[in-house]
Amino acid sequence: MTTRRKLVAGNWKMNGLTASAAELGQMCDANPSNCDVLICPPYPLIGRFVGAAGNAHIEIGAQDCHTAESGAHTGDVSAALLADVGATAVIVGHSERRADHGESSALVRAKAEAATAHGLTAIICVGETLEQREAGGAGELVVGQMLDSVPDGATAANTVIAYEPVWAIGTGKVPTSEQIGAMHAALRAALVEKFGEGDGMRILYGGSVKPTNAAEIFAIADVDGGLIGGASLKANDFLGIVSAA
Ligand code: PEP
Repeated sequence: MTTRRKLVAGNWKMNGLTASAAELGQMCDANPSNCDVLICPPYPLIGRFVGAAGNAHIEIGAQDCHTAESGAHTGDVSAALLADVGATAVIVGHSERRADHGESSALVRAKAEAATAHGLTAIICVGETLEQREAGGAGELVVGQMLDSVPDGATAANTVIAYEPVWAIGTGKVPTSEQIGAMHAALRAALVEKFGEGDGMRILYGGSVKPTNAAEIFAIADVDGGLIGGASLKANDFLGIVSAA
C-alpha cells in the first residue's frame, strides 16, 4: 500500500487584503511540518505571499488559471505566470467557478493540463449538489466528473483530487464519515483503474472542515488531507486543522 503524505490546502477565495499577510506570518512562524501545507490567496497577493513564506514549510498556490500560455484574455492569468511568481499549485474546477463561470469538466481538464505543463500541481475539485445527492447516484456522478476533469497524463506527483460536496461548502453541514469514506473509496478505485498509479494520488476532502472535526475527517480511509475555505483565513483555526493531519 502506498503511503500518501497528507496535504492541507487553504482556499482564501475572494478574501484577504495586503494586511492579511499577518495571518500568513503567524502560520509561517508555527512552520508546521507534519504534513504538506498550501495557502491559495487571491492572485494579487500571490507574489507577496511567496516572499513572506520564505523558507517556511508553506507553499503558495492559486485558485484558477487559464488554459492558454498568454494572449488576449482580459482578466485571466496563465499557469506560466503563476509558476513565474513562485506559485507551486493551482486549484481548478472549484464548484464556485463551475457555477459562477459555467466551467465544464472539459475546460477544467484543459486548465489542469496547462497547470502541470508549467510544473504546478493541479488540485482538481469535484462534488455533487444536494439535489444530485438526494436524487441518488452521487457516487457515479462524482466519479464521472473526476474522470472527465483529470488529464490522461495525470500522476500522483502533479495532480491532487479534492472531493467537495457543494452542499457542504461554507454551510457548516458535513457528510457522515460513511458518506465521505464511500465517495473517497469510489474515487480511489476509479483512479487505480484508469491510471494504475492512482493509488498514490491524494484525494482531499473539502466542505466545512473546522479544527473541531478535522481529526475525525482526516482519519477516514482514503482521505489524504483537506481543502479548507473559511477556516483557512485565520491562522489559529488553520493551524488547528493542520495539526490534526
Ligand atoms: C471550499 O470552498 O473549498 C471550502 C471547502 O469551503 P469551506 O471550508 O468554507 O466549506
